[in-house]
Amino acid sequence: MNRRVWGAVGIALLALECLFTQAHAGLLNRQDIEKQLDGQYMVGEVQAGMPVYPLFAKNPASAGKPDLKGYAFESIDFKPIRGYSGKPIDVLVAMDLTGGFMDVRLVDHKEPFFNNPTGTTRLGNFAAQYIDLSLQHSIQVHDHTTPTVRDERSADLQGVNHGTVSVKAIDQSIVVSAAMVAIGKLGMTDTGSASRRRSSGEHYKPLTWAVMVSRGMVSTTTFTRGDFARAFANTRSADADVLATKQPNDPALIFHTALISLPSIGRNLLDSEGWRYLSSSRRQAHALLVTESGPFAGVNELALRVADDLPFIVKQNGKILKTTILPYDKGLKVPGYAAKPPVATPSENSDQSILLNCASATGDPRCLNRKIDSPQTNTPQKMKAYFLVVDKSTPLDPTIPFELSFKLGRQYGTNLILTRVERREFPLPYDFNGWPAKYYDFIDTDWLALDWMKIWQKRWAEIAALAVGLLLLTAGLIAQKRVSATSRRLKLLRTSYLIFTLGFIGWFAQGQLTIINVTAAVESLTGGGDLSFLLNDPMTVILWIFTLGTLLVWGRSTFCGWLCPFGALQELISMIANAVGIQQRRLHTALDAKLKWIKYAVLATIIGSIFAAPSFAELAVKIEPFETAISFYFMREWPYILWAAACLVLGVVVYRGYCRYICPLGAALAAVNILQRWSWIPRREECGTPCQSCRHRCEYQAITPAGSITYSECFQCLDCVAIYQDDQRCLPLIQERKSDSRIITITEVGRT
Ligand code: SF4
Ligand code: SF4
Repeated sequence: MNRRVWGAVGIALLALECLFTQAHAGLLNRQDIEKQLDGQYMVGEVQAGMPVYPLFAKNPASAGKPDLKGYAFESIDFKPIRGYSGKPIDVLVAMDLTGGFMDVRLVDHKEPFFNNPTGTTRLGNFAAQYIDLSLQHSIQVHDHTTPTVRDERSADLQGVNHGTVSVKAIDQSIVVSAAMVAIGKLGMTDTGSASRRRSSGEHYKPLTWAVMVSRGMVSTTTFTRGDFARAFANTRSADADVLATKQPNDPALIFHTALISLPSIGRNLLDSEGWRYLSSSRRQAHALLVTESGPFAGVNELALRVADDLPFIVKQNGKILKTTILPYDKGLKVPGYAAKPPVATPSENSDQSILLNCASATGDPRCLNRKIDSPQTNTPQKMKAYFLVVDKSTPLDPTIPFELSFKLGRQYGTNLILTRVERREFPLPYDFNGWPAKYYDFIDTDWLALDWMKIWQKRWAEIAALAVGLLLLTAGLIAQKRVSATSRRLKLLRTSYLIFTLGFIGWFAQGQLTIINVTAAVESLTGGGDLSFLLNDPMTVILWIFTLGTLLVWGRSTFCGWLCPFGALQELISMIANAVGIQQRRLHTALDAKLKWIKYAVLATIIGSIFAAPSFAELAVKIEPFETAISFYFMREWPYILWAAACLVLGVVVYRGYCRYICPLGAALAAVNILQRWSWIPRREECGTPCQSCRHRCEYQAITPAGSITYSECFQCLDCVAIYQDDQRCLPLIQERKSDSRIITITEVGRT
């Protein structure tokens, strides 16, 4: 493809991406929920502040007056968890007032293996296993062969065949959203071991205050009386602070700033209850904690400081971000900084107790106003804290710099008409983002405790076998000439490897890469997600890493030529066909070149329809016969079987016909192959002129008449490397051999 075509494709994709919406609002209204729950409950109006619907049932004991039984909610409204398709799964959960699941219904999914009535029923049945469990249960999801066992405290749930990633997503959708509602709506503080495991959803390592400060996770900014005096110089508020001239270096306000929505920071600064409350309240928006202390904290003189409702400004990329202040009265846990604040008693009526009781007494939403009794020196005696939640309409990107500033207002004037307020802005630098943040996030993660890591541990034997297979392949490609020293050796090694690929990687370990991985990644990344949903499938992750890594060195076909189970199946069938005397046809070069464009058209249609017609994209990916042939072992509805069989028959007629002309995954890899620059398959000057031996024997028609190799179409079968070394088939070697045979050895007569 030339540059102009690539440019046009790029612009089209960008335009389509702009059209793509990332809204994840729930799909159901009050009537829908009533219907979904089979009319068991009367459904009230959606609640303000949290998208949950109250569920009522008539109580005969109270003259038919309905009782509140619980709440119904859609998981997607709380934490959209992505399944195998890269799209969030939506589950309707009806939960009673103690955190028990009264009903659980799968509302929507786009999981490719289950995108039909039978598949949806199988996933729905899995979700229904949560009915009568509760947040207090320790819930484990197993594979489809393990029967469900449940008791008062724990439940081992049966998984779904081919649905490891999908059932994990359903499980997390149910438990995480339920934990959020339990904390945010029911006021529960202990949401059970199962939900704790997932509701945090994140893991962290405990850090001391000193470490957090040294890393920049918490920043400290001190303003002196002199700083404020200088800022208000030449205004009518210039002399408001009488101590500023005498003690200009005395601290007036000390700020501590932290991006508290990052688990490594929030989990260390807040206690568990506080963290869960923050997580459920901010609803995935980012939040900042700003504490202030010093003489100007909570000062009551308007001439020194006017109490602004929102005294902070957050800017990113030059734009002001919309922020709100979260009411918060949970505990702060700041190791090495201060002990957990004492609870204020009503009898305390000092200035500090007013601060302590600010939230409840005045309804002032700003308040986490705490007196800190610290055993440490240099720690503030009173502290006021603000939780700034950045609205999702102007989202904060925590990976790039942002600016936070504090507004200080001073009032002057003696009567209503002449009273004015002067305001000045002061920066509160905070630099914990970019690579340092990523580095600390990586080293602080407790990897072994992650849910997906447990799957990797469980499948260690398969992972080890795959790793050995990949190492052998790498060694074989490095030692390509040895591997293909003779055609017999090459055939034996290649056939063995293809059997390993089909039998172990494909049918046993289910490691078939597919275009669905690509579309899911596009869906997730353009929808504001990441690729973490893939981690539940270790085979896919390892194969993709290997494929993309080797793509830069050897090209697309380290995967297509050696690791694709469906590709291996086609090639093994062709070998059997050859053995019984059926030979594949070689197409005319011009026709072959034209047909190769079909696969790019298929790929462009699939990617384009992700944005333009998502439901068509779900259908279009079914052009791949992988699910039928590899995942379902040909046990599927007959149209799928017919299509997979047709693709295999095509391979008997034209060598790897599906791969070369139809496969959208092959097209995607071939398109990226432009990044591969190294011509690693050995060639001679005579290749092409005059020798055409390899070209005529390359089953994939990947050698040009000039003798060069088209790497995007080469399947790395190494046949040409074997020919290159063969003095029976390689023309220069044949000539060399013949000229050698004409040399007559002359021995001097009479000498021994
Ligand atoms: S072209 Fe498609 S089917 Fe063929 S080997 Fe590559 S990915 Fe597999
Ligand atoms: S024979 Fe063809 S497909 Fe095989 S390695 Fe050579 S160029 Fe590639």
